[in-house]
Amino acid sequence: MSPTRDRNLEIWEQQGGNILPVMPFLDNVVVRSEGSYLIDREGKRILDLAAGQFCTILGHNHPLFVERLVAELRNNLHTGSQYLTERVFEAAQEIVRIAPQGLDKVTLLSTGSEANEFALRIAKAYTGRTGVIGIDRGYYGISLATRSLSAISDGHVDLSPKTPGSYHVMAPNCARCPLSLTYPECGVRCLDVSLRTIGSNVENVAAIIVETVISAGGMIFPHAEFFARLRALADEIGALLIVDEAQTGFGRCGAWFDCENLGLRPDILVFSKTSGNGYPSSGVVVPARIVDKLLDQGFHHLSSHQNDPVTAAAILAVIEIIRKEDLLARARDHGAYFMDGLRELETRHPRMWGTRGRGLMIAFELVTDRESLQPDLDSLTPFVLACQARGVHITYSYYEGAIRIIPGINLSREEIDSAIAVFDTTLTDLEQNRLDASRFANTNAVTRSMMERSRVRRTLRRLWETSPSYWWQRVRQRRGS
Ligand code: PMP
Repeated sequence: MSPTRDRNLEIWEQQGGNILPVMPFLDNVVVRSEGSYLIDREGKRILDLAAGQFCTILGHNHPLFVERLVAELRNNLHTGSQYLTERVFEAAQEIVRIAPQGLDKVTLLSTGSEANEFALRIAKAYTGRTGVIGIDRGYYGISLATRSLSAISDGHVDLSPKTPGSYHVMAPNCARCPLSLTYPECGVRCLDVSLRTIGSNVENVAAIIVETVISAGGMIFPHAEFFARLRALADEIGALLIVDEAQTGFGRCGAWFDCENLGLRPDILVFSKTSGNGYPSSGVVVPARIVDKLLDQGFHHLSSHQNDPVTAAAILAVIEIIRKEDLLARARDHGAYFMDGLRELETRHPRMWGTRGRGLMIAFELVTDRESLQPDLDSLTPFVLACQARGVHITYSYYEGAIRIIPGINLSREEIDSAIAVFDTTLTDLEQNRLDASRFANTNAVTRSMMERSRVRRTLRRLWETSPSYWWQRVRQRRGS
């Protein structure tokens, strides 16, 4: 065991027993973070290309951001929801300035799930309907309604039954079209086919909810026509279009909100993660015409951290710093620079494919070969862990397992160069069969026990879901009879 792992594992060994094992955790115990880096107990600096949980849009612990937050903490940490503070009025005003035209009423909340749930409540109250359409690979949150609409439900019994009236349209995954068609000749047939399966239920649809980049669902960048068709559909059926900009908002795609890049007009804009730069923050922006009807209906909403002053201060600081440091332009420039570097790698690495992105929201895939373009799912975890061991933190999506590069927009060109160098080396290892997952496996007891149990669970589930004749057939196939 290397000394680096020892000091991180020391704390796991002493205190890890008190951690509820809700997900596999990395061994590195983070003691500090600054700029684009997380720093662990051994002083190892990890380039964070996931911006925490895709939140720290300005990078970690930006000095002016911290200053603004500390000032508000000293001034006013919390008020009852009945009281608004000056910071909240200022934040609402600034958000309306940067939001798409016509959206002018703001509520601040804490998490993305909470804000999407609130947006769905508004849509249901406004339309008097109960159904919602999401994208079949979308992710909208962990609450029951948002999880019911999300693709990644994993069949957990505790997330069932789903909220009634949750419908889906196919993600326009043009690179791997499920209908084997080609855009634009296809005429966006995926949408027509999906709507046929929803049938007359559309009459009860209150909202259509979309991410502008389908991140967890495969880093799919739907074309503008797909969104234009959804916009037209919402108008036609009298539903509201909710645009969830959890990851894309506040500059990540080179505009304040990515719907600007797509010429998309939301009825309800939802922001979260990036808005607080790591401080819990989210919100919803709606037009006055919706509010008038809600008032007529006596609509109310109350939660403990609604319109909190520190959330408002965090959002104000994010907007102030993005303006001061011209970070929208930087996201565009550095995004293009990063993608150029990745495309150059693609010319030399046959196991890498599909570089795409907008601003600093970027992805590429690992494939078994360039002919079949089969996603190389087995190499994902070893690849990501090898990059992590080399000091670059990345994550990957569900489905094809697209490698996700979603950093803060403070990222420098030098940091991009160092990430590209790590990808280059790790791709070479992959291509020369030198990527050994066990070398990089996390050894803390929580993660180890979760991984072992998930292996056993997967095997048991497989046995449960298949018949003895299936296994008999497999044995016969192996024997070649
Ligand atoms: N929407 C999107 C697009 C997200 O990526 C996420 C979080 N991954 C959420 C909603 C939920 O946000 P939270 O985890 O803050 O509840």
